This record gives sequence, C-alpha cells and structure tokens, in this order.
Amino acid sequence: MEKPVIALIVPCYDEEAILPLTNSVLLSKLEDLEKRGKIGEGSLIVYVDDRSNDSTWNIIRKLSSRQVRGLRLSRHSGHQCALIAGMEYVVDKCDACITIDADLQDDPDSLSEMVEAFLEGGEIVYGVRKGRATDGWIKRITAAAFYKTMRGLGADCIGNHADYRLLTRRAVEDLLEYEERNLFLRGIVPQLGYEQRQIYYDRLERKAGKSKYPFRRMAEFAIDGITSFTVRPVRMLFWLGVLFMLTALGIGIYVLVRHFSGATIEGWTSLILSIWFCTGILLMGLGVVGEYIGKIYIEVKHRPRFRIDEKV
Ligand code: UDP
Ligand code: MG
Repeated sequence: MEKPVIALIVPCYDEEAILPLTNSVLLSKLEDLEKRGKIGEGSLIVYVDDRSNDSTWNIIRKLSSRQVRGLRLSRHSGHQCALIAGMEYVVDKCDACITIDADLQDDPDSLSEMVEAFLEGGEIVYGVRKGRATDGWIKRITAAAFYKTMRGLGADCIGNHADYRLLTRRAVEDLLEYEERNLFLRGIVPQLGYEQRQIYYDRLERKAGKSKYPFRRMAEFAIDGITSFTVRPVRMLFWLGVLFMLTALGIGIYVLVRHFSGATIEGWTSLILSIWFCTGILLMGLGVVGEYIGKIYIEVKHRPRFRIDEKV
C-alpha cells in the first residue's frame, strides 16, 4: 500500500495566543512521521477558523502553504460544525484525518500512536484521556455524571473521549451523511461501526489562551448531546404518569375510607381524587404524544439505517 496521506483538522476560535506554537509542533510531528515512513508526503494541516474575533485568521493566512491550509467560516458556528467543515474539505484529499484541538491539550505526542493504530487496521481511533488530573473537581464530577447518563440512556459514547480522533476516509464519508443540525460527534461516531480502537493519553494543560467552554456552554453541550441521541426522557414521562395513576389508586382507597368514616371536611375527597387522577392522566397523555414526537424526531434526522463493510 502506498503511504497514507493524513490530514490534521484543527478548529480554532480566538486562538491567536497559541496558534504559532501549535503550528510548529504539529508540523514537526508530521515531518517526523513522514521521515519514519509512516505517512505519505502530501500530508497536511487544516485550520478551521470558527470566525474568531482576534487575529487568528491573519495568523492562519500567514502560516498557509502547500502543507498548511486554512478555512474561515462565515459566522461563528461552534466547535462541532468547524470539525465537520474541516472534514468536508479534506475528505477527498487524504486517506485518514485526525481532529485535534488548537490548544495542544490533546497530546501531539500521541499522534504517532494513533497513526500506528490506523496502519494496523483501525478505521476509527479514539484518543481517550487517562485521567482528569488537569481538571477542577466540578468538571471531573460533571463529566463522570454526563458519560454515565449518556450510557444509561442508551447512547453508546466513549467515556473520557472528546474530539481527538482519527477517521479513515471511508468513515468520514459515512459521517458526512449524517445531516443533522444538532451535531454531537461523540455520539454519532461510535454508530458508524467498523473496526474501532482506542489509544490513551494524558491530557495536558492549555498552553495559552483560555477555554471556550465555560460551565454554561458545557452544560448546554451536554443537554444537546443527550437530547439529540435519545427519546428516553419522554418515555420516562409516560411511566411517571403510570406511577401517578397507581398512587392515585392507593390514595383513592385512603380518601374513600376517610370519606365513609366521616372524618373529612366537605369537598376534600373529590379534590384529592381529581388532583391525582388528572395529573396521572395528563402525564401519560404527554408521554404518548411524546412517543410520537420522538418517532418524528428520529425520522427527520434521516440517519443512515445501516452500511456495508465488505462485499464478496
Ligand atoms: N472551538 C471552536 N469553536 C468554539 C469553541 C471552541 O472552534 O465555539 C475550538 C477551540 O479553538 C479549541 C477546541 O475547539 O481548538 C476546544 O476548545 P477549548 O480548548 O476551549 O475547550 P476545552 O478544552 O476547554 O474543553
Ligand atoms: Mg482545550
């Protein structure tokens, strides 16, 4: 096989403080891999400027060359969209692409291990953090809770893996068929199938600049992730309604006993009964409606039903 061409996709939002360093580190990694004969010569780096407010785009323009390309989005579209934009650009230019953050937190030293896993046949290689030593305790707890919830709700999601991953050209082509607006790549990629591997790395400190994911955005992203992968919360509404109805039965017996033993004031019995029954019926009704909306929601995503790995 000819040596594979690799494209690094680097989303950038207000990263002027770190970009020159990032570029020299990534270029030297590519050069090293080329010299060792692991990857082909046309390998490249693509910076996707998510419409930064600082001089990020100017820096990218200056850095650009045959090996270094830049794309600038017409408006600030978010990290996930920037990644997709990069993938669309490289899909016909490489054999595999690797998405990596601009802040060097995704350890560039692991690139060679990732490429190695790809050369051994991995079509999707996840960079998984070994630990969360560089995170504060809030982030550690919320991250653990998030991955647990995601899995508990039935979306297969690799724990402690963000967006540091390698995808072969074929996997990228498949991924680009998912046309949904609410992009949560971490949830979609595992659905692609094929041979998937993981490599482990230590997440480093951000070298310069500051995080673009403060707590509020992080929480929004998490809710997006959950609601774009599962309709189970809706189903829970239905079962909550069932629970209310059952409780209503129990309470019904209780209030009727009180009523006939004359130990209540006028109107109490009917009031309590209607509160519980009506709430139960309402919740169950909402659950039923939600079930249909959930179906519509899944249909409009137009996700591929299956794909074929090999034919003989
Ligand atoms: N990023 C982006 N658009 C955004 C937010 C972030 O392109 O709206 C990029 C950012 O420049 C960086 C990567 O996505 O390369 C990850 O962001 P960040 O390091 O701020 O996230 P954290 O590591 O703090 O979770
Ligand atoms: Mg970061």
